[in-house]
Amino acid sequence: MIETKEKILTGKKFPFCPGCGHGISINQLAKVLEDLGYKPEDIVIVSDIGCSGLIDPLFATHTIHGLHGRSPALGLGVAMGLEQKPGKKTIAFIGDGGATIGLQHILEDARRNVDMTLILLNNLLYGMTGGQISGLSTRKYKEIIDFEKDIPPFDVVKLAYASGARYAVRVNNPKNIKEKIRKAIETEGFSLVEIASLCPSYGMKKLPELMAVADDEEEFENNRPPTHIVSKERNSLFDRERYFSPEFEAHAGKRTGILIAGSAGGGVQSVGAFMAQAAMLSGMQATMKGEYPITVGTGFSVAEVIADKNEINYTGLDNPDIAVIVTEDGLEKVKHRITADTKVYLDEKLTGKIDFSYKKLIIKPFHALVNRKSAALLAVAYVLKKEQLFPLEALKKVLSDHRLKDIFLDTVARVEELE
Ligand code: SF4
Repeated sequence: MIETKEKILTGKKFPFCPGCGHGISINQLAKVLEDLGYKPEDIVIVSDIGCSGLIDPLFATHTIHGLHGRSPALGLGVAMGLEQKPGKKTIAFIGDGGATIGLQHILEDARRNVDMTLILLNNLLYGMTGGQISGLSTRKYKEIIDFEKDIPPFDVVKLAYASGARYAVRVNNPKNIKEKIRKAIETEGFSLVEIASLCPSYGMKKLPELMAVADDEEEFENNRPPTHIVSKERNSLFDRERYFSPEFEAHAGKRTGILIAGSAGGGVQSVGAFMAQAAMLSGMQATMKGEYPITVGTGFSVAEVIADKNEINYTGLDNPDIAVIVTEDGLEKVKHRITADTKVYLDEKLTGKIDFSYKKLIIKPFHALVNRKSAALLAVAYVLKKEQLFPLEALKKVLSDHRLKDIFLDTVARVEELE
């Protein structure tokens, strides 16, 4: 550990009301860090909203300030980023109001057990907004103020322990604060220190009164090494993207918008992506957009593909040039989008379902030739053959790189039977 002591605090005047207990915890934490040889640059202090969140200017360390109840989540991210850097420490502060709002984040920290310490300053109320009770206001305190006394508080210490925290402790007596904070800082993994903190402005005026209404001191340890979350470095979010260099010549020059409409499980989204990739292999720009209900295993599935030799700056498909409709779900979903100029390729079994006449209508028995999973692919292959937007060979090239290439290429071969 480092030999010379450096001041962890800036020396700025504490912003708290006279007699506020928060200052004791901050001073004790600074002493612990200095005793352990930490320099300000080794420490990241994370805070959020409330009186406990006024601490940023007090620390000479790195500081981050976030939304109410989110310091445990922010701290988790920082700790994950620092876990490969020995000698660094993430310390998050939160009040009991923030802990109520962000309880799930505390449990997540405990479950993940990354190397950080959360200091929870429990003054039993929301000090900044006028003294309202929090989810951590104790029963004894609520009996005094005669409010919600039959509703128990969250026991955050027990909850953190049960969620897997390496160390979780509640401290009522100021004499114990330094020792418990030190143990928490020295713990490798997630540690939580809940400290009963005096709020003379809205809560207890004197320390003995506070200690009488605070919940009992508790201390728990899990014999669990810290977990390491960041296991793999990636240079870019685009590492897994595929790039397509033109291998074929597109026939169409102008922007063409194609609507592919079918049902869940019919491969519509994949077919849309294949078509866009084939367009790019043919030297075109392409976009593909999918739409389907939240219940992905049932209902409609629609893909919109736009292909253009020029740059595509608007990806909306207001007036589709071509609509490929293979199921009734798809028909119901897109029929209002068909215009007089849209050329519609319709599965034969839907003939009786259309109660109006499309001006440009081609009806083919896609489902009669292949199963329901392959009808959309067969229909798109047929469209490419007839419309000559870009070579069918480009689509076959895309499919030949897929693990199901044999099934896909057999499907595309059946396009000849549609003549
Ligand atoms: S309102 Fe209470 S908790 Fe907030 S600074 Fe004042 S005494 Fe401290």
